[in-house]
Amino acid sequence: MPKSALEVLQHTFGYEAFRGVQEQVIERTIQGGDSLVLMPTGGGKSLCYQIPAVCRDGCAIVISPLIALMQDQVTALCQVGIKAATLNSTISMDETIEIERAMRAGELDLVYVAPERLLTDRFFNLLKNSPISLFAIDEAHCVSQWGHDFRPEYRQLVSLHDHFPTVPRIALTATADGPTRNDIIERLNLGAGETFITGFDRPNIRYSIVPKKNAKTQLLKFLEDFDESDSGIIYCMSRKKVEEMASWLREKGYDALSYHAGMDKNIRAINQEKFVREEGMVMVATVAFGMGIDKPDVRFVAHMDPPKSLEAYYQETGRAGRDGLPSHVWMAYGLQDVTKLRQFTESSELPERQKHIERQKLDALLAYCETHRCRRQVLLEYFGDQMADPCGNCDTCQTPVDTFDGTVAAQKILSCIYRTGESFGAGHIIDVLLGEENDKITRFRHDQVSTYGIGKELKRDSWRSIVRQLIALGLVRMDIEGYGGLKLGPDVRAVLRGEQTVLMRKDPDGRGSRSKTKRETKSSIILEREDDKALFEALRALRKNLAEEQEVPPYVIFADATLIEMAKKRPQSASDFLDLSGVGQTKLERYSAVFMDLIADFT
Ligand code: ADP
Ligand code: ZN
Repeated sequence: MPKSALEVLQHTFGYEAFRGVQEQVIERTIQGGDSLVLMPTGGGKSLCYQIPAVCRDGCAIVISPLIALMQDQVTALCQVGIKAATLNSTISMDETIEIERAMRAGELDLVYVAPERLLTDRFFNLLKNSPISLFAIDEAHCVSQWGHDFRPEYRQLVSLHDHFPTVPRIALTATADGPTRNDIIERLNLGAGETFITGFDRPNIRYSIVPKKNAKTQLLKFLEDFDESDSGIIYCMSRKKVEEMASWLREKGYDALSYHAGMDKNIRAINQEKFVREEGMVMVATVAFGMGIDKPDVRFVAHMDPPKSLEAYYQETGRAGRDGLPSHVWMAYGLQDVTKLRQFTESSELPERQKHIERQKLDALLAYCETHRCRRQVLLEYFGDQMADPCGNCDTCQTPVDTFDGTVAAQKILSCIYRTGESFGAGHIIDVLLGEENDKITRFRHDQVSTYGIGKELKRDSWRSIVRQLIALGLVRMDIEGYGGLKLGPDVRAVLRGEQTVLMRKDPDGRGSRSKTKRETKSSIILEREDDKALFEALRALRKNLAEEQEVPPYVIFADATLIEMAKKRPQSASDFLDLSGVGQTKLERYSAVFMDLIADFT
């Protein structure tokens, strides 16, 4: 007898109830309808096709761009007793033949394939001769040039529908703004399908941004908030900085790995594997790292340099906290970064129209960094989501930022830029305002201009912050040639005449209410009793041993959330154990004895 979706959710996956739109999507797919699913990372997209794959007759074909990710998904499915396999270039011929046979015989629930394989004659033939339950197109934004990871092979997936018109399709992605979304529908011919959207919010992620002072020291302070076995990602702009930062962190006693496109392919793969499989790893990487990293227990993401847009920021920070547990994302950002990003956009070879878009994206990012409002509200608004109240879980909510009327300060900077001929960088402009004495000032006779020394009431750091904010507001621009000289923006008149006031943010001094918010994101913090924490660590150690024995990542055995619940509830019987979220029939059979033995010994 075919199982119902709820039965599969509860008995196989061990979860109590569906989340958000999961139930609707699953019902629709089981009924044979097409859908497009937009859900943030960690929202639970996988179940949307995995459950129909079990409920419907035949084998589900999951198209996914990343081989590493496929293998982990298959491992996780096998752990809950679902028959799944992957067909890709890493699978031997013998294994391939066996998987193909099993597919034809209808013995498999899911097969993961890379898009390039799917489009081969051999595979098409196999599809024609096998019972197929559905096609799931994961990372569906890859079909669109507007998305951030366009893959030409994805374009051809539309032919699936021509060849298998009765097989339901489900396209899934975590990132799709309006244009990308429409593009996906068009390119995949999903017009008759239904679109399911959940909000972009990631409530378990805490957002923080600090003005860059001594970035390394600031990073160390941030890292103090985590347990030794917590993992995280640190993004740096350049390969060189990645290497340097990773070795520096190792000197400081962290298990730091590095990853960037310039590294040997094998070493890169080894480091990625290590990060996914082991606990307590800190991955220092360029943005080359992360796409398709399915590690659910990434507790923090730190940006040592800002990303180039809010989309990129959302994507990169989104790799934290897939498991729904509290996680913290953090960025250090300074004036030089703003200068660099601006120069980068302006000096690029892009056509003017494209440049215009890039500029707007950068403006949005800078405005986000400089905001005095709730960060989550600003972030969500950018993606078209509204949030009525401030979130209470970001730095500006937890340590409200003071604002001040910055009109006079803005006027001073603007006129100083103007008087010195709109060709000097921020450092020099600030020197002039502060009335410094140095060669450059003498050489250009800037001690003669009327703005010399008129800014002594503020410190250098404050001026830097004000320049940053003026750049974010578009009142100050960078010169096109790329020397970083500041120019007046197009709309400065009203400010110079005093007709428009400029509200500015006062950077917090870093002391604030830090102690109050400290140590909130360690995974063990969720457990209050010392005794429970110790048990949690013991359970983690057991999980690690089991994972090593089977050569699988620890989280496919049990998620942290399950171990935390286990430490709290201390199950003593099979039915207690089955009550834990994330424990289904297969995991009960496999693991309840060892875990309950450990709990009994401990208690
Ligand atoms: P996504 O692919 O959208 O990033 P996943 O499918 O990996 O998210 O799911 C994120 C986490 O949430 C996983 O650990 C998953 O097992 C869990 N999860 C998904 N749906 C549910 C549910 N209905 N109840 C409890 N946990 C769930
Ligand atoms: Zn907030």
